[in-house]
Amino acid sequence: MEDCIFCKIVNKEIPSTTEYEDEQFLAFHDIHPKSPLHLLLVPKKHIHSVDHLEFQDRDLMGDLVLTAQKIAKGRGLRGYQLHINVGRDGGQVVDHLHMHLQANI
Ligand code: 5GP
Ligand code: ZN
Repeated sequence: MEDCIFCKIVNKEIPSTTEYEDEQFLAFHDIHPKSPLHLLLVPKKHIHSVDHLEFQDRDLMGDLVLTAQKIAKGRGLRGYQLHINVGRDGGQVVDHLHMHLQANI
């Protein structure tokens, strides 16, 4: 997706503070953190939003949550919040599916 800011971050065309990366996902620090720890976990594959998920994306979404868990365990977090905004009316500003991982550490 040419004009997608998160695709550009995934492709390293725009810098970000990388927290975690594997074949499927990239996690980086939110540019305007709303918690002491505020990460964004994105699939490298461009998917517009949860509303655009298809049946074949179910493993990807399972892996997304497990990857968030892995990052949290790696940081030794005892508690954290995961949330996904869906659509403009749901607070989604960037149209590349992403999960917020926040903690008050
Ligand atoms: P949304 O409201 O779409 O769920 O969340 C988008 C998030 O992306 C916001 O928290 C915003 O601060 C963050 N964001 C937007 N542009 C950039 C950017 O260029 N770099 C980083 N690291 N975060 C961004
Ligand atoms: Zn994208």
